[in-house]
Amino acid sequence: MKNLKILIIGGGIGGLTSAIALRRGGHDVTVIEKDPEWSVYGVGIIQQANVIRAMAELDLVDDYMAAGVPFNKVAIHAPDGTMVAEVPMPRLVEGYPASMGIGRPALHKILGDRTIASGADVRLGVTASNIDDRGDCVSVSFSDGDEGVFDIVIGADGVYSDTRAVIMPEDAGPEFTGQSVWRYNFSRPADLDALHVYNGPIGAGLVPINEDLMYLYLTTPEPDNPRYEKDCLAENMCEKMRSHSAQAIREMADDITDNEGVVYRPLEGMMLRGDWHSGRVVLLGDAVHATTPHLGQGAGLAIEDSIVLADELGKHDTLEAAFKAFRDRRFERCRYIVDKSLEICRGQLGKGPPVDNAEATADMFKLVAQPI
Ligand SMILES: Cc1cc2nc3c(=O)[nH]c(=O)nc-3n(C[C@H](O)[C@H](O)[C@H](O)COP(=O)(O)OP(=O)(O)OC[C@H]3O[C@@H](n4cnc5c(N)ncnc54)[C@H](O)[C@@H]3O)c2cc1C
Repeated sequence: MKNLKILIIGGGIGGLTSAIALRRGGHDVTVIEKDPEWSVYGVGIIQQANVIRAMAELDLVDDYMAAGVPFNKVAIHAPDGTMVAEVPMPRLVEGYPASMGIGRPALHKILGDRTIASGADVRLGVTASNIDDRGDCVSVSFSDGDEGVFDIVIGADGVYSDTRAVIMPEDAGPEFTGQSVWRYNFSRPADLDALHVYNGPIGAGLVPINEDLMYLYLTTPEPDNPRYEKDCLAENMCEKMRSHSAQAIREMADDITDNEGVVYRPLEGMMLRGDWHSGRVVLLGDAVHATTPHLGQGAGLAIEDSIVLADELGKHDTLEAAFKAFRDRRFERCRYIVDKSLEICRGQLGKGPPVDNAEATADMFKLVAQPI
């Protein structure tokens, strides 16, 4: 199918990479994003070889490399801080590294700039107040009073997707795991040239994101899902870090001073196991498969979804066939990442058998190295 008129709901990683891929396919694309500031929080993200391959496919890889830090291995540490394994990461694109750390704002800028340059119409501070699938088109009313008629609507509106709630009202949505994550940016030691993962009941990781910065993540059991007040976040994160079993992590606690810089998030997971579309409305990214971050693949999956959906739309004569083929190509990889990440999480919480992180990471690399 060619020259489709497409509405994308959500201007995050999945929505923007979809816009870029679909504009390359010649479609007419509108993106609506509910956040009028179009902002993202300031820590970073790990992106592995499959994402570098996907960025190359979208012709974004050089901008992307310039904004982040390459690395080629994961150093795995025992709870006491001893390094127990170095897992080499596979390279999938010749001449490029195996993995990247990048600040979320830097990634967002690259994707946002390219979306606008592609000719997509980006409308900020706007949501869909009504989505009416009429069979031969979708009529959408917007929160700013405007209306539009589209061939397809893509829900790329994240784990709490309003679009999912419209087309699959029976879906239960995400489930809290009992674990939360705390993140904070630190100065990057010059010799930090790998992703460092610390196992244990309180997990931790160090991720370089540019020449000067790295971020630290800390996963803590939070069985009652408490609400932490914004003006005590630094103090609470320091306290959690001081009880970490690795000295290297404990020693960083005193540098956490800015409540605004702490990003706290209860971890949730969900996987839509049935269809990913209804009629002319299709979902991708966290709206269908929100994984906990234990394998660092959530955004990678959303980016791959975008490429595959655009590809399948170009190959088929009907939307039904394209949407089915899209889900068939994506389901097993996404299911594996969501389920395995939850298994790691449950092992850390003592709710399931412990998972060998080095083995799980090596298996994940093998899986995501497969063509999409
Ligand atoms: C703690 C944590 C750490 C992570 N670390 C990594 C990592 O290291 N590597 C990795 O690959 N992945 C990681 N992820 C996962 C990654 O962040 C997500 O998988 C990715 O952001 C999903 O992209 P998305 O576009 O589907 O959703 P989102 O990024 O959530 O984007 C959704 C967008 O839709 C907008 N929106 C929502 N509702 C509406 C609406 N009704 N109308 C209009 N707009 C709307 C939102 O404002 C947002 O801009 C992590 C996730 C968490 C929670």
